[in-house]
Amino acid sequence: MIRFEDILDKVETYKPDFDEELLQKAYIFSAREHKGQVRSSGEPYLIHPLNVAYILADMRLDETSIAVGLLHDVLEDTLTTKEKLEELFGEDVADLVDGVTKISRYAYVSKEEQQAETFRKMLLAMVSDLRVVLVKLADRLHNMRTLQFLPEEKRIAVANETMEIYAPIANRLGMGRIKGELEDLSFRHLHPREYEDLKGAVEEKLSVSGDVVDRIRATLNGKLRENEIEGEVTGRVKSMYSIWSKMRRQEIDIGQLYDYLAFRIIANNVKDCYACLGIIHQMWRPVPGRIKDYIAMPKPNFYQSLHTTVVAERGQPFEVQIRTRDMDLIAEQGIAAHWKYKEGRVGASSEDANFLWLRQLVEWQNDIKDPRVFMNSLKIDLYPDEVYTFTPKGDVFAFPRGATPLDFAYRIHTDVGHRCVGARVNGKLVPLRTPLKNGDIVEILTGTTQTPSREWANMVVTSRARHKIRHWLNAEQKNRSIELGRKLIEKEAKKYRVQWRKLIAENALDGVLTEHGFGRLEDLYADIGYGKVSARSIVERFVTDEQKEKGPTDEGVIQAAVRKIFPFTSAATAIKVKGYDDLMTYLAKCCNPLPGERIVGYVTRGKGVAVHSANCPNVKNLMFNPDREIAVEWADQRQSQYFVELELLMEDRQGILARVVSTIANLKTNIRQMETRAGDGKATTDLVLEIADLKHLEKVVRSLAALEGVLRVDRKYNIRQNTA
Ligand code: MN
Repeated sequence: MIRFEDILDKVETYKPDFDEELLQKAYIFSAREHKGQVRSSGEPYLIHPLNVAYILADMRLDETSIAVGLLHDVLEDTLTTKEKLEELFGEDVADLVDGVTKISRYAYVSKEEQQAETFRKMLLAMVSDLRVVLVKLADRLHNMRTLQFLPEEKRIAVANETMEIYAPIANRLGMGRIKGELEDLSFRHLHPREYEDLKGAVEEKLSVSGDVVDRIRATLNGKLRENEIEGEVTGRVKSMYSIWSKMRRQEIDIGQLYDYLAFRIIANNVKDCYACLGIIHQMWRPVPGRIKDYIAMPKPNFYQSLHTTVVAERGQPFEVQIRTRDMDLIAEQGIAAHWKYKEGRVGASSEDANFLWLRQLVEWQNDIKDPRVFMNSLKIDLYPDEVYTFTPKGDVFAFPRGATPLDFAYRIHTDVGHRCVGARVNGKLVPLRTPLKNGDIVEILTGTTQTPSREWANMVVTSRARHKIRHWLNAEQKNRSIELGRKLIEKEAKKYRVQWRKLIAENALDGVLTEHGFGRLEDLYADIGYGKVSARSIVERFVTDEQKEKGPTDEGVIQAAVRKIFPFTSAATAIKVKGYDDLMTYLAKCCNPLPGERIVGYVTRGKGVAVHSANCPNVKNLMFNPDREIAVEWADQRQSQYFVELELLMEDRQGILARVVSTIANLKTNIRQMETRAGDGKATTDLVLEIADLKHLEKVVRSLAALEGVLRVDRKYNIRQNTA
């Protein structure tokens, strides 16, 4: 049983000047908070934080980490708050305990390997200080060592999570010893039968072969002495899990099990390592394909060693790992061996952070003269460019930073994206453009009538979502253009008494289509709808001389002139045009025409018919192509408010502004915005008013112009978007 004094003794061995008071305080606080709590084993709860702290001391971590080990469960399991921890132990300890508590909340449910990898990265991405991960690993290690006290179902879940998430994380951080123990413990609980069988078989083999470990070790030692190489030789049985997974990989059963012994030589330098390898290969025959030079080519986690497998007397194979003491330290403890003081937080600006992290590890290998240098803190953002989120079912999705619920929706399914009306993040409704954070649980809400809009393309960061949105919009735009083109040409045909449908039925249009390079009639319609081809130029070709003489029908003239549009209620709603049923129209934003005002329609490229004020400068612009103009007229003038912007030029005299305001108010008109600039004895006021129609506007303008001191009243056409 670990006592608090054992921890102090251990820390003292590698850091004699450690902050004992901090550890005392943490110990007393933890003991008090956990008082009365018991573990499943029936022991006092405090046993657990003590063991975790001891494991951390074994990793030779700083006293902050060890204090966090003592305190790691107080936020989760007691009434202590983070504020309280901060007050008592400072921000560092409070943040670290909070970090451990947060990652402990996410339980991994075994899924496919892809999910496990994403989950692992998510856990790493959530921490800004690697000490959080180390404390979590120590916590998991002690829980695994005492797993037998839990009910079976829980045991399996924890062991699975350990095997798929925590052992690989330990491996990634180069912590070979912890990784090995976590794997063996998980294996034992996940496959108890296989574990016992294998263990029995290995023990039996060892007893049959006598003191095989000792004999090989003695031989190795003798050979090293003979060649005047200093080296420390150890021998052991490989870990149960590594033997078992290899048996599974090679599809062999226990009867064929030979390769279960491993020896390690710790040499003084790299040259001696290679010399040892040569000596071993002279003595025993190496197994082809099993010689690995991880010194020349380190593993991604910076593991370095020479590996070989040779066959000794009686056909007994065994593996030998040869490395220097420094390499051995990294192989066993990985990142924990590399604990260098680092001021401040690294990783705010991303790219360097990853580099720095790798670079430090590399640099350390060249500069390992004093591995005892105590390394204090390594704050780092491991995945600064990614964010990890959950579905309500616990699937993890990784996104680039800045991704929104819309990206999430498209990640689930294209249709879910198209129909996305909203999202709940961690149970709360949020705007669709809200950036997601690590650990967010995202639920997408869909509606049957929802469709993508133009703004959506700016609200996503994944190319998949953007592509899907654009694709949909383009298809939609094309459909609308086809629809518009069809209506325009049918109207035009009717006007000249051309029987359009009959022409289609008789394939009379084939020539025109070929001439324009259109494969299908829809393509022609689309180009007319886009305004690339005018309806009249097509219809004209089918007008007989007789029809020409008669001229356009009266009905045609009337209909062409009286295209009525309904006042629109919101900028997002398409405006209907009478006679065109469901024509895609909208009020041009440059002039926002008012009911009663003279207006013209203009076939835009792909967006339908824009309705402008006849006075709009854009309409008079030379760019305006007469072929694309269609006549429109106001329909029934329902109650509705339009924003009109006026500019008043006045003498800058006292009370004039008050008279302007009261004049407007007397006409029962709302002022939405008002801004006045003064200078040179003159004042200019910009007004945005709510106006019902042209008559209303004229009345307001007349009344204002009549005021004493008002010099000019002008309507401005660069009006902002109507949001009424
Ligand atoms: Mn714990």
